[in-house]
Amino acid sequence: MVIDLHTHSSVSDGTDTPTQLITTAAAAGLSTVALTDHDTTAGWAEAAAALPAGLSLIRGAELSCTSPNGRGGTATVHLLAYLFDPTAPAIVAEQSRLRAERRARLHKMARRMAADGYPVDADELMAGLPEDSPAGRPHLAMALVKAGVVQTVDEAFAVFLNSNGRFHVSRRDTPVHTAIEMIADAGGVTVLAHAFAHHRGPTVTADVIKELAAAGLTGLEVDHPDHDEATRAELAELAGDLRLVRTGSSDYHGTNKTIRIGQESTSPEALAELVSRTSGVPVLHG
Ligand code: AMP
Ligand code: FE
Ligand code: FE
Ligand code: ZN
Repeated sequence: MVIDLHTHSSVSDGTDTPTQLITTAAAAGLSTVALTDHDTTAGWAEAAAALPAGLSLIRGAELSCTSPNGRGGTATVHLLAYLFDPTAPAIVAEQSRLRAERRARLHKMARRMAADGYPVDADELMAGLPEDSPAGRPHLAMALVKAGVVQTVDEAFAVFLNSNGRFHVSRRDTPVHTAIEMIADAGGVTVLAHAFAHHRGPTVTADVIKELAAAGLTGLEVDHPDHDEATRAELAELAGDLRLVRTGSSDYHGTNKTIRIGQESTSPEALAELVSRTSGVPVLHG
């Protein structure tokens, strides 16, 4: 049984359509896969329709949040939200606000690069993205690869798109406490994604995770490609101390990253614990 609880389709910043993602998951021998596109549930129906016998689908999303960082400042954190009612008005409103903000922000980043002479057509980039989609830096990164400015998406992030770069534009993400509450109210559970992925930018302290656990966070993503062995050990201990459910997931993005689906996984016991605390929408079995 291979359970992978964190994947992205082309509905956000992955490269597989939801149907292709389900096919990839089945071909890789997964027993359960969660679809967790950034700030949208728009891929749920297509993924559900593509589900083959033997594969279960956890419908989820990865919420872009802002949190106190425990050092007097703030940090971006990602919350994996599972099995919540996607029609809950608070969720619909906040996610739609955030998607609009994502598009405005990406457009601005692309315009900044174009103004500096890089071969980026900001309007064309935006026109190529579906209306109401959660546009993200990987879309600009792919355009830079296509234009021959960089060889890979990783290189685009390293050279141009990271949060310290001069083209970067920040975003008003959802306050993390609001997100935890909104998902809980809609019958879902939340898991803090790649909490100590230091290379992505500033992270939160263990004290912040303790606060989030008190505020209703259910789990902690321990096994993630961006966590080294020492980091995993540290997070596993924290999960044990705080009674948070320990998960592991690939954060698969198709060919935007070099990670395989199912490369990291979650135990059946941890999955059962998460599911037992939900009442929004059910797990779907193919
Ligand atoms: P955004 O949603 O615009 O804030 O962009 C963040 C997304 O970019 C994350 O969801 C990651 O999937 C992706 N990402 C972040 N760092 C990298 C990187 N170094 N290489 C490829 N993708 C990245
Ligand atoms: Fe992503
Ligand atoms: Fe993430
Ligand atoms: Zn992710």
